[in-house]
Amino acid sequence: MAGIKDVYQTADWKAEKHVPAITAPQKVAKGEFVEAMVSVGKEIPHPNTTEHHIRWIEVYFHPQGEKFPYQLGRFEFNAHGESAQGPNMSTVYALPHAVCRFKTEKPGTILATSYCNIHGLWESSAELNVE
Ligand code: FE
Repeated sequence: MAGIKDVYQTADWKAEKHVPAITAPQKVAKGEFVEAMVSVGKEIPHPNTTEHHIRWIEVYFHPQGEKFPYQLGRFEFNAHGESAQGPNMSTVYALPHAVCRFKTEKPGTILATSYCNIHGLWESSAELNVE
């Protein structure tokens, strides 16, 4: 049976502009706050127009050995040039870039997902070691 996992796409973020690029340390101390920065278009900019843009990014942490991931944040990007004068007339554009800080006493995986209004759902992940 097909499900949501079948429509998530992934690739190398350096070669595919839709993939959310995660910038975070590979290792932190137990209970120390870690900063995860997630952006779409880090290497190859994604279009940002009223017709074609990134709507949102979500960031999760999945502790090793646990069944469920925890959602750290959901970031909406709602300005893409639309205005009363028409599409792409406002000159106001939000970049798909999100930063969140969290702490954990367990190692695990940072998961990021993003949504392009015409190219669908994308995902990436980064391992986090805790000592
Ligand atoms: Fe796109």
